[in-house]
Amino acid sequence: MDPIRFDNSYARLPPRFYTRQIATPVPAPALIALNTGLAAGLGLDPDWLASDAGISALAGNAVPPGAAPLAQAYAGHQFGGFSPQLGDGRALLLGEVIAPDGRRFDLQLKGSGPTPYSRMGDGRAWIGPVMREYIMSEAMAALGIPTTRALAALTTGETIYREGPLPGAILTRVAASHIRVGTFEYFAARQDNDAIAQLIDHVIARHFPDTSGALGMFDAVVTAQARLIAAWMGVGFVHGVMNTDNMALSGETIDYGPCAFIDGFAFGRVFSSIDQHGRYAYANQPRIAIWNLAQLGSALIPAIPGPQDTAIDSATEILNRFTPRFTAERDRNFRAKLGLTGEDDGDIALIDRLLALMDQDGADFTDTFRALADGDAADQFTDREAYHLWHQDWQNRLAHEDAAKATALMRATNPAIIPRTHRIEAAIEAALAGDMNPFHRLNRVLATPFAPDPADLDLARAPLAQEIVPATFCGT
Ligand code: AMP
Ligand code: MG
Repeated sequence: MDPIRFDNSYARLPPRFYTRQIATPVPAPALIALNTGLAAGLGLDPDWLASDAGISALAGNAVPPGAAPLAQAYAGHQFGGFSPQLGDGRALLLGEVIAPDGRRFDLQLKGSGPTPYSRMGDGRAWIGPVMREYIMSEAMAALGIPTTRALAALTTGETIYREGPLPGAILTRVAASHIRVGTFEYFAARQDNDAIAQLIDHVIARHFPDTSGALGMFDAVVTAQARLIAAWMGVGFVHGVMNTDNMALSGETIDYGPCAFIDGFAFGRVFSSIDQHGRYAYANQPRIAIWNLAQLGSALIPAIPGPQDTAIDSATEILNRFTPRFTAERDRNFRAKLGLTGEDDGDIALIDRLLALMDQDGADFTDTFRALADGDAADQFTDREAYHLWHQDWQNRLAHEDAAKATALMRATNPAIIPRTHRIEAAIEAALAGDMNPFHRLNRVLATPFAPDPADLDLARAPLAQEIVPATFCGT
């Protein structure tokens, strides 16, 4: 029996959806991480994955039986400007597997060499972004937030060049699919209505089997994105590069580039070094999601039955559902973070007042909520008087809750530890010096974010002034 039982539905779509492409071999692949828990969940044998044959497959040095490697075509709005042709420039879809629970997943190699979509790029990745995506995506999964996953990371033995020479690496990414808003835009830009219709059917079959038609799919995507962005907001996550090619139809977080969890809170916090105008700032994420979904809605218009102006009205009506859905999810998340199970008229004002104070004082996002779960976060605030007034109002509100339940809810929704940027950077520096232990330790500790071992709380600590990493880079 084949070691990986592939069933490649995307490869059965017409050839203009992709370019068949095999990986460029690498000289000396070596595993740096294998996610055995994820492998088991996918029905893959971790021992085989760690064998020479498995490593060859994960490195792209051999095509495993049943795989149909291809580079997916897509377009995208990047920082608002449209690129009609992007596509997998440094990644290949190896194929799809059906997990024992019946769910279908893409296996993708990221950093596997040039494709027709590489433009000026080398098609490679260096160890830093591979480690960052591994840590971030697995931490996100442990927080219960929809995300692509990391099955394996390996070094390639190849030196690649960015600012200077760096070790090459490949990530094996797992996703419900890699279909993006930009995949629809690619065909819309070519007025390829047949392709759009086929892609809708494909997305519905894979992600939203309970719905039908362009509008049904659009509605489901709007719901999934409203949930996703509300989940990000609840943990202080900034994606950093919410281009339409980085927004997955499945509603999973995808493409961990210049992303970060906020330390000192600010609504306008931006990390990406190239995001000069705060387009992808923390508080702007819901607006950008709407903007991206509007691009999806436009691409779907030809697939909506009836005259064009009624199609536009119908799509607009669905797009307008984002805000109430997002708001409901966001409010639910933040209520839980404050231990509120019931709904009171003043709850939202209470939440907003806290966030405004945190913004004003630069309170650490994660530590503030975790300290509140333990009763008091005064240490996080400089305007103690305003904080104490807020705290008193919160205590008055909590008096209507079951105290034990409220505490349990807060401990289960406010992580004690998130992947802090300075810790990720330190793990990358250590790896460059030959020590993978900080990377492995970080992954281990981040797997239980709500109840870490007290011995690991050094990794939870907010950065000291000299440890703050001011900006993150798209550095691929
Ligand atoms: P990103 O913003 O990182 O999602 O990438 C945007 C586009 O650039 C995608 O089409 C990528 O495949 C492509 N790209 C990024 N880095 C590289 C690279 N090193 N080589 C080739 N293509 C790349
Ligand atoms: Mg991308």
